Amino acid sequence: MTDSSRNTPDPEQQGSRGQPGTEPGEIEGPITVLVIAAHPDDPEFGAGGTTALWAKQGREIFQLVCTNGEKGSSDPEMTSEKLVALREEEQLAAGRVLGAKKTMFLRLPDGEISPDLTLRRGIVKAIRMVRPEIIITHDPTSVYTDSSINHPDHRAVGHATLDSVYPTARDRLNFPEHEQAGLLPHKVREVLLWGSREPNFFVDIAEVFDTKIAALTCHKTQIPNPDELAKRMRERAENLAKEYTGDDPRPVYAEGFRRITLMR
Ligand SMILES: [Zn+2]
Repeated sequence: MTDSSRNTPDPEQQGSRGQPGTEPGEIEGPITVLVIAAHPDDPEFGAGGTTALWAKQGREIFQLVCTNGEKGSSDPEMTSEKLVALREEEQLAAGRVLGAKKTMFLRLPDGEISPDLTLRRGIVKAIRMVRPEIIITHDPTSVYTDSSINHPDHRAVGHATLDSVYPTARDRLNFPEHEQAGLLPHKVREVLLWGSREPNFFVDIAEVFDTKIAALTCHKTQIPNPDELAKRMRERAENLAKEYTGDDPRPVYAEGFRRITLMR
């Protein structure tokens, strides 16, 4: 499905699929997970370990990237046109490394999105197409830390995704053109937010940590020094593992999320 119109973004399907899960047995039956991110590389930075692990366990993982990422270069020889194509290829390669079943693109302009109805329409359409039990996305409440400011596109996508999950995708009279096209309303069961200042759900990613790094290094235009990146990701995953509060022994590496479990 392709729609190049900026006003009515459509998830552009490429690549293939994957699955999620939280605590084993909490959600019965097959589980489908949709990762919704602002830029190419965000799905890997935010949840590359969790999605690689879940794909390995047989869950179906889908990725939706909302912008082209065409502003992400300081190379004077690089153009936005070249960067769009390169970054889409990089994202597809990263999705394959993680075991994602399908990677989709809304192709909105990098750095220019807001949590408006244009963005929400595209996200709702993807939710109604993929019909995930679990969605993973940016925490829109993370605006800054003592040493960083969160990208406005990250906040926009996190915000629009929450608005899409409730109530827009659930209620059939929102975007009625979807129903006319055969896409039925859908109720998501859980949302996991990465980049949260108050994570309450941790996933042990030790066994897939190398896969996460391998997926991240597919983003060659963004990662000039893979060794330095691996070191930084290792430190981050070790620090998150220290916050792990599960019954199992503390993991070596973890990803942390704010988990929202929606009522039936
Ligand atoms: Zn980003």
